[in-house]
Amino acid sequence: MPEHKPILLIHGGAWAMPDSDVSSHRQGIRNALEAGYAVLARNGSALDAVEAAITVMEDDEAFDAGRGSFLTRDGRVQLDALLMSGADLRAGGVAAVEHLRHPIQAARLVLEHSPHVYFVGLGAERFALQHGMRPCDNMDLVLPREQRRLYAAQEAELKGLGDTTFSGTLGSHDTVGAVALDSEGNLAAGTSTGGTLNKAPGRVGDSSLIGCGCYADNQSAAVSLTGWGEPIMKLVLGKWAVDRVEAGASPQQAATDAIAYLHRRLGGHGGIIVLGPDGSVGLAHNTPRMAWGLATEAELRAGVTHEELSLSF
Ligand code: ASP
Repeated sequence: MPEHKPILLIHGGAWAMPDSDVSSHRQGIRNALEAGYAVLARNGSALDAVEAAITVMEDDEAFDAGRGSFLTRDGRVQLDALLMSGADLRAGGVAAVEHLRHPIQAARLVLEHSPHVYFVGLGAERFALQHGMRPCDNMDLVLPREQRRLYAAQEAELKGLGDTTFSGTLGSHDTVGAVALDSEGNLAAGTSTGGTLNKAPGRVGDSSLIGCGCYADNQSAAVSLTGWGEPIMKLVLGKWAVDRVEAGASPQQAATDAIAYLHRRLGGHGGIIVLGPDGSVGLAHNTPRMAWGLATEAELRAGVTHEELSLSF
């Protein structure tokens, strides 16, 4: 008999999402929850569940991950992802990859097959191909919708109107992430992103950096973040949040405190999900909306805060 009740908690970005984007995000979250929870329901591992949920969201053009991501300043997709195992602190990260549809799967390969933790650019892609992944053309990841969005951002920038620092909460943050607890009591976390719109080529945000946009440790908690990456990185906010749990805070208190700290210390904005080894969950954001979902044995909730889902669990 499994000892723990599996739980999957995921997010699909936190920002001032317009009404017109709500149903695509709700559906994307639901699809990812179904794929990820199916793994947990057959006593699969938290790592497999997180990878499965994020793979679905990387394929979903509603999110800033995989195909459909924001474009760099020079019109390309550059992807970052991290996957971490709470049982033994194994982690795998890739950044600035341009020819992989599923960076979270490349991160898994790093976690499983390398003594290293983090690969970037061509080295990351070479490692993934050597371990069986197939390359794609960068243009396969680029949507006309994103080209239009990039041109609009660059035009606004030229006119001095653009928010090129992403310091406003209106900027879109559609990064995806997942945290899971499996029937053996192991935690895992993953985060995958195309980064910020109009980013400089080579820029890496918080999402794939260990302890910043993602962290997992069975002795404290699993966490995934989204939002304006630079302040999150400077505060190493993912690790900050799990350390709060280790010190006795509930995952909900740690989530609330982390977002308050982000704003108080650096004026940052974003959203966070936290899952403790006892199955308690936390979520907080200081953006107008956040897309998230929760799957347990008893229920599957997918939607966008605050309109559809209450923050209280
Ligand atoms: N945090 C991501 C980054 O800065 C962006 C996001 O969450 O949407 O790369």
